Amino acid sequence: MIRRAQIIKLGRLLDMLYKPSELAEEIGVNVDTIYRSYLPAGAPHTRDKTGAIWIHGPAFKAWMLERNEDGKRVLHPLGEGEAWCVHCNQVVKVMNPRVRHFNGSGELIQGACEKCGRKVNRARKGSK
Ligand SMILES: [Zn+2]
Repeated sequence: MIRRAQIIKLGRLLDMLYKPSELAEEIGVNVDTIYRSYLPAGAPHTRDKTGAIWIHGPAFKAWMLERNEDGKRVLHPLGEGEAWCVHCNQVVKVMNPRVRHFNGSGELIQGACEKCGRKVNRARKGSK
């Protein structure tokens, strides 16, 4: 199943910033998919002074887990304090959540899964 394979590839993303071309290679999609589908659909990213786009691995992964290959939302909206745990394969409550902000592109909530205790990430649009 393609979706499953993609989730496994997403798991390889490191806690670092990727160029769109690097990210495309890591997760096995065409770079055009990132520019034409993911970014317009609201994928978390930042722009540096030169206008270059950078995508944070865990923030992108958290965003992508709620979406299909075209970047369209597939899961029910998560409730406050909830996230998708890739280890438990279900929606779980986030324990000890911490919020990291990204320039103009929302925020990343990081915490621990209530069931397995492993790290979970959730991206969401920042409230302005
Ligand atoms: Zn879990």
